[in-house]
Amino acid sequence: MKNFEFRNPTKLLFGEGQIANIKNEIPSGSKILMAFGGGSIKKNGIYQQVMDALSDYEVIEFGGIEPNPHYETLMKAVEIIREKGVNFIMAVGGGSVIDGVKFISAAAPFTQDDPWKILTDRLGKELKEAIPFGTVLTLPATGSEMNSGAVVTKAATQEKLSFGGPLVFPKFSVLDPNVVASLPERQIANGVTDAFTHVLEQYLTYPADAPLQDRFAEGILQTLIEIGPDIIKDPSNYQAAANFMWCCTMALNGLIQQGVPTDWATHMIGHELTALYNIDHARTLAIIGPNLYRVMFENKKDKLLQYGQRVWGIKEGSEEDRAQEAINKTVEFFHSLGIQTKVSDYTEDYQGTSDIIVKRFEERGWKGLGERADVTLDKVKEIVEMSY
Ligand code: NAP
Ligand code: FE
Repeated sequence: MKNFEFRNPTKLLFGEGQIANIKNEIPSGSKILMAFGGGSIKKNGIYQQVMDALSDYEVIEFGGIEPNPHYETLMKAVEIIREKGVNFIMAVGGGSVIDGVKFISAAAPFTQDDPWKILTDRLGKELKEAIPFGTVLTLPATGSEMNSGAVVTKAATQEKLSFGGPLVFPKFSVLDPNVVASLPERQIANGVTDAFTHVLEQYLTYPADAPLQDRFAEGILQTLIEIGPDIIKDPSNYQAAANFMWCCTMALNGLIQQGVPTDWATHMIGHELTALYNIDHARTLAIIGPNLYRVMFENKKDKLLQYGQRVWGIKEGSEEDRAQEAINKTVEFFHSLGIQTKVSDYTEDYQGTSDIIVKRFEERGWKGLGERADVTLDKVKEIVEMSY
């Protein structure tokens, strides 16, 4: 196991009825910006529950944060915060709203320079100040409700960049499984796929003598495989929704990555497909992940074998065949959720994608991704072309 320091300061309020309790978590007299997305919360009753819980506070609403939140939109919230002296933010939504709020929280007090620098220069530990915020999660998927990372898109240049740091953990997050009932099937499938890939990014690397971390990871994967079909069949199944939600949070709240190597190349390449073609985040991972495992097969073979055996019960065949079969099972699982796994399933205009991505990585000075920093640009090209 590798050395680590681990602290996760986000308080969780899990379960039915917990939205009402957010008033116990926000200092009295706070001036709150309530940030949300395109309006799903007004149809499923979450908006009203949050407004009722905040009735003792001065609340300014900021709706319209789009999926893959735009820097341009978020900067409008930053202006409101600066103008009105807002000192607490409530994010009510999925990963896009929560990530967007993390950026708003860091950008509002960042008056010394252009806040876009927070993303281009990946300012994390360097941030001196951030507006405190809490979240009501409406879409289990990203883990953003209990981590300190965020991904933001500049629409003008089609760039999707990430940042993170200790000041942008949510103060608290409400996880009420009832929110799952109103989710469209597409978003549930995305959530399962995103969480599944988060685990694989921290697990399918190289053995690190960390059996407990491996079993945490395998436990989340197995649970997602078990409950994925149940939750798609009936999103109002509370127990399935509760376990789905907990899986997604545990997949990316920092716990399972302690002491082990992490990959993240699938996310880095996937972000480009979203930026270029607006493919849903999770779907980009289902496109890239399996091909990354194929191209980096020798790197990942030991863990692929373990994953195949423990998660998928693959016992027959040569080591090579079993490791390959583990990749095939992963693809079949994504297909079973209704997720397509080729770029050409989403856009006809994909020729040249690999060159665009390689050029962008070059410009950013990204030479080698992955747990061994050996997913070089020629490998990136191969992975992307295999994904057409
Ligand atoms: P999302 O973009 O937040 O939401 C997708 C859609 O789901 C929206 O149209 C939203 O509608 C709708 N929706 C949300 N909750 C709903 C509900 N309860 N009922 C009905 N519809 C609902 O999706 P996401 O997958 O959670 O977030 C994706 C973003 O997170 C990407 O930008 C990705 O890069 C990022 N991400 C972040 C992390 C991290 O660690 N921070 C990790 C992975 C991915 P409304 O807008 O109308 O509400
Ligand atoms: Fe993700």
